[in-house]
Amino acid sequence: MRKAWKQALKKLIEQGASYADVRYYPQEDSSILVMFNGNLLHFQNQQEKGYGVRVLFNGAWGFAASSDLAKKDLIFQAALENARTAARRIKSPVLLADKEVLSGEFISPCALDPFEVETKEQITMMQWLDRQINQEGVVNRQVVIQTNRKNIHYYDTEGAEIEKTITDIYPFISVMGTDDDGVMQERKYQPPRLYDTRGWEIMRRENWEKEADRIVRELNELRRAPLCPQDLRSVILLPDMMFLQVHETIGHPLELDRILGYELSFAGGSFVRLEDFGKLQYGSSKLTVRADATVTNSPGSFGFDDDGVACQNRLLIDKGVLVGAISSRQSAREANEAVGREIFSGSGGAARSTSFYRAPIDRMTNINVDPGEDGSLEDIVKNTERGLILGGEKSWSIGSNREQFHFATDIGWLVEDGVNKGVVRNTTYGGDTLEFYRSLSAVGDASTWELQYVNNCGKGAPSQIMQLGHGIPVCRFDNVKVGR
Ligand SMILES: [Zn+2]
Repeated sequence: MRKAWKQALKKLIEQGASYADVRYYPQEDSSILVMFNGNLLHFQNQQEKGYGVRVLFNGAWGFAASSDLAKKDLIFQAALENARTAARRIKSPVLLADKEVLSGEFISPCALDPFEVETKEQITMMQWLDRQINQEGVVNRQVVIQTNRKNIHYYDTEGAEIEKTITDIYPFISVMGTDDDGVMQERKYQPPRLYDTRGWEIMRRENWEKEADRIVRELNELRRAPLCPQDLRSVILLPDMMFLQVHETIGHPLELDRILGYELSFAGGSFVRLEDFGKLQYGSSKLTVRADATVTNSPGSFGFDDDGVACQNRLLIDKGVLVGAISSRQSAREANEAVGREIFSGSGGAARSTSFYRAPIDRMTNINVDPGEDGSLEDIVKNTERGLILGGEKSWSIGSNREQFHFATDIGWLVEDGVNKGVVRNTTYGGDTLEFYRSLSAVGDASTWELQYVNNCGKGAPSQIMQLGHGIPVCRFDNVKVGR
């Protein structure tokens, strides 16, 4: 096939295209198993294969895709025709930032291949998990295991040849029970990445026993807990809440295509302007954030992006100052052209497509907060006068430009004079993005840092669901409105 793809690409150049690439998926496998209250509610196995061709002609993109290899010549011509048609309508031509032409292979590390684990064994594991959480006070129980494997061959007219095999698993458990007011409360657990690998080893029983007991215990505490006070307090965000805070108010607003207005018709814009890079005080000096696609055990690491650019570790926010964005070859070049100087040195390696039948767009990789020097969670609590520890994302509401936010969390613990006073329920907090990050007053050390992941980030029109990670320490913010 390699020769055939390269020949087909060459023909597009001979027909006047300035650039083209093809992504061929010989096989993509995915499965999802959902168990509800001990019954297998949903079981789906899916296989897909196909290829997508992207062509640049007179500064306009054309894209076409198919599952039918016999139609290869037709599909390549359709992509070129689409680009020719689009070229008659564009106002400014698409230009691509230069890249180093790399060829290579990426295989995500996996100790125990989840696709080698029989469905029967997966269900046995789910039944065992269900028994762990089937305890007094629990009304609804859910156990979910999702697995995915993509094999992707990439070729472009600049000479890149890349093969990727990416395997991942996304399990979680959840328990629900009614509180004293008859309102359903929930605790859930999605394991942070514990190993340097991304396979079935995440499902080892010893990793789950303690956590299953913990979420049931916390649910029962929640059911009888007092309500969250309406107050102005320090909030201490645990990694299983802080990851969503970072996702929504650092990750999305720093997607460069979004800053350039490409997402306005669907996901919204960004309060960040191109002139802010290098200047904007995004947070306090304790805030350092990076887009690091080189973390081994995360779905946000993929070797090479869908522009054929190698994965990178780039600073986004350096000691509070905005310095970088999540970018691709197109968005990096377009932003530089728009301001007439080089803000971004080449692509950030974040062009990603969810499937062969979608064109790549700028996506989060692993948007990580560097660990700080304020010790463990216990140390931070000890040094907090009036606080609220918050864990477990529950619901979110975010300004379309990500300038404000309001979150509800599954659980909270009140802190008074450095002492944890116990659980409160119906916890919420909100604020203005910049004011909030500028109030960051403590960042936990490496002992508090966890690699959390998101397997359902939505973006693009037509919609693309993407998987990524967030390496997150415990963080404390001051003077935050809570409980309203
Ligand atoms: Zn998202």
